[in-house]
Amino acid sequence: MKNLDQRNQIIEYSLKLNSTNLSPLRSGNISLRGIEDDIEGYLITPSGKKYETLKPEDIVFMGLNEEEENNSTNKPSSEWRFHRDIYVNKKEAHAIVHAHSPHATAVSSHGKPIPPFHYMVALAGGDDIKCAKYATFGTEELSKNVIKALENRSACLMSNHGQVAFGKNLEDTFELAQEIENICHQYIITLRLGKPKILSLEEMKKVLDKAKNYKKG
Ligand code: 13P
Ligand code: ZN
Repeated sequence: MKNLDQRNQIIEYSLKLNSTNLSPLRSGNISLRGIEDDIEGYLITPSGKKYETLKPEDIVFMGLNEEEENNSTNKPSSEWRFHRDIYVNKKEAHAIVHAHSPHATAVSSHGKPIPPFHYMVALAGGDDIKCAKYATFGTEELSKNVIKALENRSACLMSNHGQVAFGKNLEDTFELAQEIENICHQYIITLRLGKPKILSLEEMKKVLDKAKNYKKG
């Protein structure tokens, strides 16, 4: 089977969406940039299938120029549009995780960006974490809103829905989605205590510079 290793990796991380409760059962979706028969595209989880049942042949390949769902037995995730648009707009994106993680979803329902109440907000790539405007799942409009919220960022919230993260591989991208979930959890606790002190833009600039050399495996 073509791209078997990538298909298995998508399944491995889909099972993790379940076991870590980041996005259980059928919610959320995962993709990896890939090439099949010389066509540039991405491999993506199928729509509406329980993660625990996934087999390599269930993972769907879509070309970057493909506008329609192809004829394979499995339909690609209903969110293939924003996966495709992220790969087209962000050359550095090689993996995408979309999750309905509980705390990110709760924060997203307020439709507001997360300010730098903690310096780790910088993990998404800037001094706040944007929230994509609400649009119905699976629509072109939602994809446009997601791309806007990801300007100069590698993760964002999606209003009344959840979160999306991208990165250079699936391991890093899954970790980023987990970090976004942690930040949202902390933010909810913070708000319970009243209005938090917000870090200055100057401080966040320092953090963003320092963060470039932080991760060591
Ligand atoms: P799919 O099963 O079609 O990927 O849908 C899950 C989801 O999270 C839609 O936003
Ligand atoms: Zn979703």
